[in-house]
Amino acid sequence: MNLNQAREYLLTLLPQAGEILKKYFVSGEFTFQSKGGFDFLTQADEEVDLFLREGIKKQFPGTQLLTEETAPKDHQTLKEIKNLWVIDPLDGTINFSRGNPHFAISVGLVDKGISKFGVVLVPLENKLYWAEQDQENVFLNGEPIKVSTTENLEKAVMACDWTWDLEKRLKVVTWLNKSCSKVLQIKQMGSAVADLADLAAGKLDIYLHSGLKPWDVAACTLFIEKAGGRITTPSGEKWNVFNPEMLASNGFLHTKILDLIS
Ligand SMILES: [Mg+2]
Repeated sequence: MNLNQAREYLLTLLPQAGEILKKYFVSGEFTFQSKGGFDFLTQADEEVDLFLREGIKKQFPGTQLLTEETAPKDHQTLKEIKNLWVIDPLDGTINFSRGNPHFAISVGLVDKGISKFGVVLVPLENKLYWAEQDQENVFLNGEPIKVSTTENLEKAVMACDWTWDLEKRLKVVTWLNKSCSKVLQIKQMGSAVADLADLAAGKLDIYLHSGLKPWDVAACTLFIEKAGGRITTPSGEKWNVFNPEMLASNGFLHTKILDLIS
């Protein structure tokens, strides 16, 4: 896989996908349905999923894809694949459906659970991020970004998310119970992709999630790493993109928050 070629292609493909989302977002006319329980999708999720799938298949024939809207139930079996394109056509579907512009598109290339290339677009905020394994930096609209330098929990801005898996939500409650009185602020903004990209850009200091899917993290985890941050499981173990539980931070706060929640 030629990563330069991949970057060139995806940096033009994602803005096109973003235009599809914008069209639906502005018109407000789209179907909205449950995939089961509290997991929802719109017509826009499906259309962008298809658009990205077809584009990437054509550009990189023979490589395997894992997309949110076509993922098999047992996608954990894809853990050992060397070049796996992992696609989230719309992260933050509820925000999107309620007229909230905090949503994102994510495409990552994963090598046995490790992200080696990623592009993310937050279309309504005009933010285009990318990072590559062999490059030193992660870029936002062409400029390198860094994580925050916050070192004290009392100055820390933390974010979490409530997975649609209702049982896993209780884990977040437990973590928050142990940490909420120690940090400056706790946010829940509804798009793991946009939030993790914000962490890489220094807008958040800590992020917690109990029910992530590979397509939420395939690109952003590389951003956080390249921006100088750190990712482990919430109990401090080694993490990969197939792990649903994550603690991400600017690095400076990592052991401090681990001491509280693990
Ligand atoms: Mg999605």
